[in-house]
Amino acid sequence: MTDSRRLVDTLGRVHNNLRISVTDRCNIRCFYCMPNENVQFKPRAEILTFEEIVRFTRVAASLGVDKVRLTGGEPLVRADLCDLVSELAAIPGIRDIAMTTNGVLLADHVVALKQAGLKRLNISLDGLREETFERISRRQGLDRVLEGIFAAQRIGFERIRLNAVAIRGITEDEIVPLGEFARQHNLELRFIEFMPLDAENNWCDDQVLSGSEIRDTLENEFGPLRLSERTDLSQPATDYRFEDGRGVIGFINPVTQPFCGSCNRLRITAEGKIRNCLFSIAEWDAREVMRSGGSDEQLVELLQDCILAKKPGHGIDSPDFIRPERAMYQIGG
Ligand code: SAM
Ligand code: SF4
Repeated sequence: MTDSRRLVDTLGRVHNNLRISVTDRCNIRCFYCMPNENVQFKPRAEILTFEEIVRFTRVAASLGVDKVRLTGGEPLVRADLCDLVSELAAIPGIRDIAMTTNGVLLADHVVALKQAGLKRLNISLDGLREETFERISRRQGLDRVLEGIFAAQRIGFERIRLNAVAIRGITEDEIVPLGEFARQHNLELRFIEFMPLDAENNWCDDQVLSGSEIRDTLENEFGPLRLSERTDLSQPATDYRFEDGRGVIGFINPVTQPFCGSCNRLRITAEGKIRNCLFSIAEWDAREVMRSGGSDEQLVELLQDCILAKKPGHGIDSPDFIRPERAMYQIGG
């Protein structure tokens, strides 16, 4: 592929990583993402069909996208998701298909997902106590998430990652138990700083439990953490190993240590808007192109326009920061 066909922005960042939101719906209601009640979901007709998602991904793959992650909302509430996974897996150039899930429905689907070609799983788990789960998600279901994690391990998913959003005043007591759990069960654990993408607009920086504070807590309990060599420079996490060699802990610190300089990600929302950043306030409408009879070349131009408009960083820490109108569940994390 010639460089002019690649999705390179004005800072030379090459975009090969596509996050596809397959739905804005979810079966739980995490306060850092969704409203608790009366959620205004997009009508079904506005959501991209599988055919549209596959077409868009094929065009993106022709521009060098080789990694895809399915997300949402909760991807597993979308019917027949495995069919989409197998269609995406068949696209020439796509070498990695991953999914981020809350895990509640995972045990029911994990065998079919693996057979369809899903390679990797990130499972969200902010704590190990049902009380914490309910406080955050405003629903029940921790036991089902744990069941999903173990089912995925049993059927052979490797390098399963746990994503834990850290929130001051809520999850401090979960840090050490999560670390122990991950070590015991050979799971990678990543702590993510709470970002201003909650639907209820209650985020404030006091609630951000920083990666460095979490690291201190873990080191007090388990001894020094050793920085792992960075094999993929675009990955958002900084990974560490425990001194005794048991386990990997990563920190995704978008608020206290932004990693925008190496970002290689682009996103498409469930209703087909392309975004060059989680915090972008502009969007490019791929659904409009596809539903009005537009060509693949028009999709290429749209993708290139979107990437060329990418800003150097999200600017959360800047006084001029403008929150996007969409909350996390409407973008796709
Ligand atoms: N429903 C799936 C899940 O929860 O794993 C996938 C979508 S969710 C939006 C993707 C990831 O974003 C999850 O790991 C979730 O914890 C994280 N997330 C959601 N809102 C966040 C926020 N305001 N700050 C940081 N991470 C957030
Ligand atoms: Fe649902 Fe994931 Fe948002 Fe929680 S973070 S409400 S599980 S989409």
